[in-house]
Amino acid sequence: MVRVFLNETRGESMNLTDEIMKLKREKKAVILAHNYQRPEVQDIADYVGDSIELSKRAREERDAEIILFSAVDFMAESAVILNPGKKVLLPSQGARCPMAQMLRADEVRRWKKKYPKVPVLLYVNTLAEVKAECDICCTSANAVAVANALDSDTILFGPDHNLALYLQKKTNKKIIPIPENGFCPTHVLFQKGDILLLKDEHPDAVAIVHPECTPDVQEVADYIGSTSQMCTYAKELPAKKFIIGTESGLVHRLKKENPSKEFMLAYDGAVCPNMKLNTLERVHSALKEERHQVNVPERIADKARKALEAMFTVT
Ligand code: SF4
Repeated sequence: MVRVFLNETRGESMNLTDEIMKLKREKKAVILAHNYQRPEVQDIADYVGDSIELSKRAREERDAEIILFSAVDFMAESAVILNPGKKVLLPSQGARCPMAQMLRADEVRRWKKKYPKVPVLLYVNTLAEVKAECDICCTSANAVAVANALDSDTILFGPDHNLALYLQKKTNKKIIPIPENGFCPTHVLFQKGDILLLKDEHPDAVAIVHPECTPDVQEVADYIGSTSQMCTYAKELPAKKFIIGTESGLVHRLKKENPSKEFMLAYDGAVCPNMKLNTLERVHSALKEERHQVNVPERIADKARKALEAMFTVT
């Protein structure tokens, strides 16, 4: 019974994959999948990467008429902002990042009023209308470089409090976190004890974590970096075993790119439920019906684009 079920499931997903590929060709679509997507979604994507890497990649796909961005809301918005005129689809309308929801545009305006001379640097994990309120954006990969490039000793930074503390440590600047305690509900699940236990069991393993993890987790890690930096680091380092402190989806990409190496997720429950809303079925129906199109009003897109372009001038 189990075998028949598995075969049927495999057969169905084969058909679904074939159909997605057919639709992709017919509709001149490009499929982008974030590093945290389900393995089967990553496997059918044209490109897998972090949000800004993917949005920039989409710009090079000049012939594509549709961008299907398998990720969460703010990432698809960035693709709209950086690819004006293209139809951007999100497989699941409900795929929203809770961290991005923690900072609203009116709150940024309030902080700006309180500190009128202080530049506002926002993590790309913000909604378009919030990005439109800042001077410059950053990713977790370039946050330190962007902060250092700003001509000010004090910076308003949001929404991730842990990334703010990381920035404070890596730069000589005063970082004011806005809001005071924004966080990623998935990355804060990692605990220092998880890493230490695995290090004890596997003394030859290298622990690599994301800066959205709490400072005590970062302290016991051997390397702190964005998902793209983690991929490069794991590929280039001769070590054979890695302890991973980021969302579970990255482990699929790491294993695929480094088949001779071992990757252990530091905590099995580190699964972002919002990212995982995008199933193969939803990718298929979004593409087929061309539904869940993401729109950003032009006035907001123009301002948010300036903040993103300012970041590209730094890195
Ligand atoms: S992993 Fe965290 S930051 Fe990324 S989409 Fe999920 S909740 Fe948002």
